Amino acid sequence: MKNDYPIIIIGGGIIGLALGYKLLRSKKVSSLIILEKEKEVGQHQSSHNSGVLHAGLYYAVGSLKAKLAVDGIRQMVSFCRENGIAHEICGKLVVAKEEAELSELHRLKKQGDANGLVGLQILDSKEMKKIEPFASGIASIYVPEEGIVDYRQVCQVLATKIELMGGEIFREAKVVDIKKKGRSWNVRTVGGNFLTSFLVNCAGLYCDRICRLAMGHCPIRIVPFRGEYFEIKEHRKYLVKNLIYPVPDPRFPFLGVHLTRMINGKVEAGPNAVLSFSREGYSKGSFDWRDTYEILSYQGLWNFLKRYPLAAWEEWKRSKRKSLFCKAIQKLVPEIQEQDLIAGAVGIRAQALFPDGKLVNDFLFVKDEGVLHLLNAPSPGATASLAIADEIVNRIEA
Ligand SMILES: Cc1cc2nc3c(=O)[nH]c(=O)nc-3n(C[C@H](O)[C@H](O)[C@H](O)COP(=O)(O)OP(=O)(O)OC[C@H]3O[C@@H](n4cnc5c(N)ncnc54)[C@H](O)[C@@H]3O)c2cc1C
Repeated sequence: MKNDYPIIIIGGGIIGLALGYKLLRSKKVSSLIILEKEKEVGQHQSSHNSGVLHAGLYYAVGSLKAKLAVDGIRQMVSFCRENGIAHEICGKLVVAKEEAELSELHRLKKQGDANGLVGLQILDSKEMKKIEPFASGIASIYVPEEGIVDYRQVCQVLATKIELMGGEIFREAKVVDIKKKGRSWNVRTVGGNFLTSFLVNCAGLYCDRICRLAMGHCPIRIVPFRGEYFEIKEHRKYLVKNLIYPVPDPRFPFLGVHLTRMINGKVEAGPNAVLSFSREGYSKGSFDWRDTYEILSYQGLWNFLKRYPLAAWEEWKRSKRKSLFCKAIQKLVPEIQEQDLIAGAVGIRAQALFPDGKLVNDFLFVKDEGVLHLLNAPSPGATASLAIADEIVNRIEA
């Protein structure tokens, strides 16, 4: 049995790391440990994403996502500046392709203003082309505060700082059991047992399993949505200057396939959102029995499919047929052709689903005696990670 720690964080993704960093830097604790099952930190959602700094345009006024994205992007940009992390504030366009999308475009602009974003502008197609000469649409919102960053590097810098301040990160320490003993938690990992009086669950794609281990039940289930990207070939990259997004479907938390210049210079198109049968299976056709059983035996999934049968089917078709994926991209930049696209990265979203089939839209925290679970932290979770960490600290103190 290892020492009795004041706090144990399960999960060394960007949020678990941001929390460890904030707790140690503010001297709220003098020691803590992070248990991470992989050889290195930040190997899952935190490094399999679009690498975009989201300013808070899409999120309902008053929601946690709005509050924490607006605060989070400012904290993340300062953190990157202070620590020499590759990032760039390049601005983004959200493009309306047809009349029917105009009212949603204007609603987003109002919402963004109310959330506190600075400098939002509605542009007509001529003005839009000055920013993205190859983008096509009838109007767009220009979001000047947004940008791109290397979140993998953010994770590495956070881990180094945590270890310098006396925190310990146990790698290859998969949590396999959790038992309450009086006021303490006994956390069993493949590398040994640890005791703590406070446990924070930041296990991303497995947060619902960790929640069930600790509490015996979980109010949601994680349903993994695979996001596939294509890379634009080198000689066609000039078609995209920075970030070009569609007007998102307001029924879903996903932002729709978009075009992203990455901080490493590549240009990516994607991601789609297809139900995955493996929570961490990044190759095509990945399958995991336990993950599949947990998804298919969940009533919430069937209720979700009943609510949105067409959307699920369309996404599945688009994943199987490159030509359909290309069509979605051509709505933003018509000159992009199928032969310009090569299969690229894959990310898997830890999307929480309620039993009635509703997607959990906002960040979701559940607190019980001696434990706090973060049960929904999809996009903009990476941008907002430092602000989410503050929120967790406040909730622990409360
Ligand atoms: C395709 C895609 C695109 C996205 N694009 C963006 C974007 O552009 N901008 C943005 O802000 N956000 C984006 N996001 C969201 C963002 O990546 C996530 O919100 C963020 O990374 C969540 O961080 P996390 O620490 O909660 O999860 P993770 O990074 O998944 O970390 C969880 C950690 O827990 C560990 N773990 C799990 N189970 C155990 C166990 N039993 N024992 C020990 N350790 C365990 C895992 O190994 C993992 O390291 C995107 C996400 C995806 C998937």
